[in-house]
Amino acid sequence: MQSFDELRTACSQPEDETAVGDLVEAGGEHRESAGGAAPDAEHTGRTDLDRSFHAALDLVPGLRDTVASGHREQRFVGTADLPNQYRTSVGPGWALLGDAGHHKDPSTGMGIADAFLSADLLAEAIHSTRAGRPVDDALGDYRHQRDQLTADGFELALSTARLAPLSNRLTAFYRAAAAQPEVVERIFGILSGSVPIRDVYSVPNIASVLAQANS
Ligand SMILES: Cc1cc2nc3c(=O)[nH]c(=O)nc-3n(C[C@H](O)[C@H](O)[C@H](O)COP(=O)(O)OP(=O)(O)OC[C@H]3O[C@@H](n4cnc5c(N)ncnc54)[C@H](O)[C@@H]3O)c2cc1C
Repeated sequence: MQSFDELRTACSQPEDETAVGDLVEAGGEHRESAGGAAPDAEHTGRTDLDRSFHAALDLVPGLRDTVASGHREQRFVGTADLPNQYRTSVGPGWALLGDAGHHKDPSTGMGIADAFLSADLLAEAIHSTRAGRPVDDALGDYRHQRDQLTADGFELALSTARLAPLSNRLTAFYRAAAAQPEVVERIFGILSGSVPIRDVYSVPNIASVLAQANS
């Protein structure tokens, strides 16, 4: 069995210079709707699930043998289209929260934290109207804050969902981070929603983690 690090290396291509840090630095360009085109059945492998599943296993060295040593318990179960989008989320007397208002590919596992975040923000906004604040103002703030606080996660999800090989820089970053427990903790903090993405994947922070590894 190969180590996680070896698998990462096997799946990385040195030519690719795209980094999550670059995307985050670039800021949130994708608003209202991004990547919404529905994939066709052939592209998603729905026409021959068994063949597509086993072909995908071959992408990770050794995984086919590991899976072959077990047996399948039940039929394949998939999900419907997974749009990456921000819907208009407030209007006169109504508001959307959670996936209804903002949905992204689940590959980063951030949807539940973001659903709670939007519920919290909306509850605060509604509560603020008890002191006489106009409802439209409060709902407008809710939408603005939700968009701001989820923007970086949206970029990260779009980047992760492409399933592109890691760049040289990110590969080196994860290798260096593996020996720095506080950095590992912050990386997982991003996925739970407790750490802002910029605090970890900014260009200066990546440089600092690499420098620490080389010192
Ligand atoms: C395959 C997959 C894996 C995922 N993995 C993760 C993960 O690991 N970590 C993570 O954080 N997130 C993950 N997510 C995302 C996460 O599930 C969602 O972001 C989260 O559940 C959104 O919560 P929600 O309350 O907004 O919507 P939902 O959980 O979808 O709840 C909406 C509810 O409303 C009900 N409903 C819909 N229409 C009506 C109606 N007209 N009347 C009454 N009820 C209605 C639905 O049946 C549903 O129960 C994953 C998503 C998918 C698809």
